[in-house]
Amino acid sequence: MKKLFKCTICGFISEGEEAPEKCPKCLQGKDKFVELSTEDADKIYQSDRTNDIHMEIIALTDKIAVLCKEGLDIKLDPNCVGVFEKAKNESWTIKQRSKAELAGHMTNGKW
Ligand SMILES: [Zn+2]
Repeated sequence: MKKLFKCTICGFISEGEEAPEKCPKCLQGKDKFVELSTEDADKIYQSDRTNDIHMEIIALTDKIAVLCKEGLDIKLDPNCVGVFEKAKNESWTIKQRSKAELAGHMTNGKW
């Protein structure tokens, strides 16, 4: 089973048999890496996919917001405008909820 090593300077996580010679992010040497415990490594593996899903949701909400703005600019009729306004606000809520969840993951070492 592969091991995970964390850069103590920037937090970069490296996977492999041993720590990299240099951190790919902050360029510090191998001596700045510590091996993660199985428990901490499990958290990272388990959250890897869900973090990707949250990021994809965040990107989709930006797309929804752009579409809503286009719909609002057309101003077809009051009902249509109302639907776009609601969708725009809801996309903001969805985005912020996923961002908050991601921030929670980071704090808990799930990334
Ligand atoms: Zn680093």
